[in-house]
Amino acid sequence: MKKKTIRDIELKDRKVLVRVDFNVPLDIETHEISDDSRIKAAIPTIQYLIDKGCRVILCSHFGRPKGKVVEDMRLAPVAKRLSELLKLPVASTKDCIGIEVEQSVSKLKSGAVLLLENLRFHPEEEQNDPDFARTLAGLADVYVNDAFGTAHRAHASTAGVANYLPAVAGLLMEKEIDFLGKALTDPIHPFAAVTGGAKVSDKLALLENILNKVDYLLIGGGMCCTFLRSQGYGIGQSSVEEDKLHFVKELADKADRAGVQLMLPVDVVVADSFAGDVPFKVVNIGEIPDSSYVMDIGPYTIKAFTDELKKCKTVVWNGPMGVFEYPAFRDGTKAIAQQLAQLDATTILGGGSTAEAIDEFGLTDRMSHVSTGGGASLEFLEGKTLPGVAVLQDKEH
Ligand code: ADP
Ligand code: MG
Repeated sequence: MKKKTIRDIELKDRKVLVRVDFNVPLDIETHEISDDSRIKAAIPTIQYLIDKGCRVILCSHFGRPKGKVVEDMRLAPVAKRLSELLKLPVASTKDCIGIEVEQSVSKLKSGAVLLLENLRFHPEEEQNDPDFARTLAGLADVYVNDAFGTAHRAHASTAGVANYLPAVAGLLMEKEIDFLGKALTDPIHPFAAVTGGAKVSDKLALLENILNKVDYLLIGGGMCCTFLRSQGYGIGQSSVEEDKLHFVKELADKADRAGVQLMLPVDVVVADSFAGDVPFKVVNIGEIPDSSYVMDIGPYTIKAFTDELKKCKTVVWNGPMGVFEYPAFRDGTKAIAQQLAQLDATTILGGGSTAEAIDEFGLTDRMSHVSTGGGASLEFLEGKTLPGVAVLQDKEH
């Protein structure tokens, strides 16, 4: 079901409570924001509301203060950066509820922006406490959720407030659910899923859900080791998830029966120890030395994977192909990224590490959509209903 967005409702001059995801990384030493992409991602919604003459009340969590005030987790650096990006003053408050907040809201003029203090200074936020949610809701006439990255959590500001206010999606939220949703419900075929990352146990529900929808399922990363082991290959010192051997065998059988082409590496890059500055070599999967670690997919695998991807019209990718944090082992991830960048297809990337890798390669803008929500995108692709999405009003037909 499509969700109503800020474009579907009357907003002129309204007080709008907007849940954003301003949980940005800070440099430990300088305390400066080291990556402002989450702030930038919220700008279209904020700007739209400003242009409609709304009184914009922003709220977000920041870090894990565990329900008490932590000075280092105040949102002040975010207010500063947001103000620079909007080229407008951004007022802020020392708390997210209370008298000071109410006074600041009442002083807000049409088109002005206020950023409330870190929601998670109150334990009631993560507890989805109804009184806390009602108090937040009491600040505004309308609730907008643009925090896709937190939509898999049922907290007061992501779910609870919608019990007390009309609730609609922001533009970032809309884009996320449109891209991820279309891939699951109405993809253009041929459709491939590329999955990787550290462990198969993190991706069981994703693999299960996507298997019925794709034509190709490409498996790399550390998780390919459990698949290779289930087929009788030695995988050296890399970890096998023994309790998942049955699952991956079943998955391969299901793929077979459904006519889905499940592809595993045919060669891999192995290293003497799990580190970045150690000798490494390429070996066929039948020849992985007992003493070494699987660190990346090999060149024949890259060729085989990219050849299939060239045929595709939709590709969903979650999880890097190798230990891309070390330059020696990022070739597989980079080659897949470069192939996707060249495709005339819808390319959708989810997962925190995957997004980080694509950003390092400078290819983010060459993908149809790189999700801003690691955990949220994974849960969405698993077919779960995200609480922060479920509470939004459905679009009328
Ligand atoms: P995402 O955040 O994109 O969903 P994951 O969290 O599942 O991805 O996995 C990312 C991690 O997987 C990275 O830290 C990467 O180093 C690791 N990884 C990739 N390939 C391997 C491998 N062959 N062995 C061990 N870890 C790996
Ligand atoms: Mg991750």
